[in-house]
Amino acid sequence: MAVPLLDINRQHQPILEDLRYVFNTALETSLFIKGPEMEQLEKEFAEYCGTDRAIGCASGTDALILALMAVGVKPGDVVLTTPFTFFASAGAIVRAGGIPLFLDILPDTFNIDPELLSKWLTDNCVVTNRGVVERSNGSRIGAVMPVHLFGQLADMDRIMSICNDWQIPVVEDACQAVGAKWSQKRAGSIGAAGCFSFFPSKNLGALGDGGMVTTDSPEIADTIVSLREHGGRGYIHEEVGFNSRLDAIQAGFLRVKLAHLESWHDGRRKNASFYSKALKGVKQVTTPVIRKNAWSVYNQYTIKAKASDRDELLNYLREHGIGCAVYYPMPLHLQKCFDCLGYGEGDFPVSETVSKEVLSIPVFGELTEEELVEVVETIKAFYAEKG
Ligand SMILES: *Cc1c(COP(=O)(O)O)cnc(C)c1O
Repeated sequence: MAVPLLDINRQHQPILEDLRYVFNTALETSLFIKGPEMEQLEKEFAEYCGTDRAIGCASGTDALILALMAVGVKPGDVVLTTPFTFFASAGAIVRAGGIPLFLDILPDTFNIDPELLSKWLTDNCVVTNRGVVERSNGSRIGAVMPVHLFGQLADMDRIMSICNDWQIPVVEDACQAVGAKWSQKRAGSIGAAGCFSFFPSKNLGALGDGGMVTTDSPEIADTIVSLREHGGRGYIHEEVGFNSRLDAIQAGFLRVKLAHLESWHDGRRKNASFYSKALKGVKQVTTPVIRKNAWSVYNQYTIKAKASDRDELLNYLREHGIGCAVYYPMPLHLQKCFDCLGYGEGDFPVSETVSKEVLSIPVFGELTEEELVEVVETIKAFYAEKG
């Protein structure tokens, strides 16, 4: 039996009529860009995340760029993040004019190691008499960007306490963690700003591209409202911004889907807990570790195998019809486009090691129990055959 890594069709089946209604309404009204649908979604999304404001934009990548600029990142500023993430986390820093500075992750949660953050700041930075955090070479620290990877928040208590001490704004890359919680607080409601992607494979996916920034700060929100539309109001421009708006039709689709999001999270969480029990006996495999303060929405269910087995396991699963993928095979500090940052092999040993061990298996909410069993049995069969 084949089991897909993700089947969005199954999620859409029960809401087809609602989605068609959105499409028909857009055709009739000809309101295609922003408009009341987007404003309504922004309200509902802010309420869902527990923030004062939410600002729609064209993608998760743009959400990150806009948020970094709005919290005050200026050309040449350093932005701290991890190398074990989707490319856009670091790509957005560069596009906002910043310089990515990587810190390694924790091997069990794949999220930033807060003690490395604390140590790096203590060892490398001073607060100038203007209240600016600077490195010894004079470059300013513009922001810290924790990535909530695979649906689990980074340790936001520790990160916020460190960043509050240093007065550095935190921009949460919550693109994989819509709805996830840390100590009852939703992703995107803890830092100065939270960034979300509505790429179709995310837990809340549009029928195309889309993004959102959440914040409690009216200044940050208003800056993004301006930046997403050429940095102006009417035809008066005080700064140069972008064309990064959210389509009304996507906002409409997202409103339909937002109403189902909690039950979809429940489906993913149920599947994750099935796997974690069923794979307990497979000692060659490490199942995801979730911190006690964290409520994961499992955008991915990512296991670890021995580096020497991982690719063999991946191929075996695929040969047997099980969809799976490696997120992410190459840490960002080793990407060609970041040669200029001066990193090399061995700089981030945890990221480098886990990139050879991780494997994500199907966890979307509409999987049947039969399919879950099939995935588990195929993993067991692989190790049984290996002996
Ligand atoms: C998906 C994703 C992004 C980018 O989102 P897009 O909507 O594809 O631009 C950024 N960061 C992380 C961690 C992501 O998973």
